[in-house]
Amino acid sequence: MTAIAFIGLGNMGGPMAANLLKAGHQVHVFDLSADAMNALVEQGATAHQDAGDCAALAEVVVTMLPAGKHVETCYLSENGIINSMQAGTLAIDSSTIDKATAVKVAAALQAKGMEFVDAPVSGGVAGAAAGTLSFMVGGSDAEFNRAKPFLEAMGKNIFHAGGHGAGQVAKVCNNMLLSILMAGTAEALQLGINNDLDPKVLSEIMLKSSGRNWTLELYNPCPDVMDNVPSSNEYQGGFMVDLMAKDLGLAMDCAVQSQSTTPMGALSRNLFSLHAGQGNGKLDFSSIFKMYAKED
Ligand code: NAD
Repeated sequence: MTAIAFIGLGNMGGPMAANLLKAGHQVHVFDLSADAMNALVEQGATAHQDAGDCAALAEVVVTMLPAGKHVETCYLSENGIINSMQAGTLAIDSSTIDKATAVKVAAALQAKGMEFVDAPVSGGVAGAAAGTLSFMVGGSDAEFNRAKPFLEAMGKNIFHAGGHGAGQVAKVCNNMLLSILMAGTAEALQLGINNDLDPKVLSEIMLKSSGRNWTLELYNPCPDVMDNVPSSNEYQGGFMVDLMAKDLGLAMDCAVQSQSTTPMGALSRNLFSLHAGQGNGKLDFSSIFKMYAKED
């Protein structure tokens, strides 16, 4: 049993912390929301009124916060947890943030004798609840090996992507590709529909042909082609357009920093930002399908 501090108990962090409790760890929690903390206290966690107090007691700190600015403030601000964490503590940041912030936090912690991995996730809220997340980890071999058993309590696939920041780069590469596949699949399906094809038949054909991809296999964006996917439930649940737009912004920042050419990613970022701005931000990202629909 390890004393773990978990900071950020939202849609993802709440169920992830619950899985650490189920694995038998002693979990200390902090969130700005008292309700979020109470839900974990009911499952056996100890709540704290201050992030620093929470982190001071831990051998391992996990953060699951909205964006890079929250992560930097949580660790490195004047009242940041870096000032109360014990030397030797391992910090695991599973938030999706920019590589530069991950590298900055890692260096600051390292300078004080602490360890850090960036470990963003794929798998969404359902994967967080089921303990089947994929983790993409950036850090040294020793840091990765130390973090792995804790990540295994919350996920199924644990990948060592490289040094500090590499987990964040892997995450944005994957989500940029996913957004392109989703937009392209939606575009192809609507082209077929506009030419009197049945989207179920077209999906079957493309699944057995060279257009086959993850979205056709598991996440068809056209309503009523597949059961149990957001498109057949008015695009509720799943992975929000707002979060995809955020990740595509991070991918574009990453491309600028590394002077990479990403024309498809740039187009996809624009499509998803436009879609979010048109009031679809809280819908699942497969709702991009609606953008291609012809008006009756
Ligand atoms: P969320 O908004 O549901 O939760 C964030 C939590 O952090 C909230 O409970 C909020 O009160 C808390 N918080 C904010 N600032 C804080 C601070 N300074 N101290 C303590 N708590 C603070 O977000 P989420 O959906 O859980 O996402 C968390 C991270 O995971 C994001 O970086 C997101 O991009 C990433 N992510 C989300 C999903 C998803 O499907 N929701 C999937 C993969 C990755």
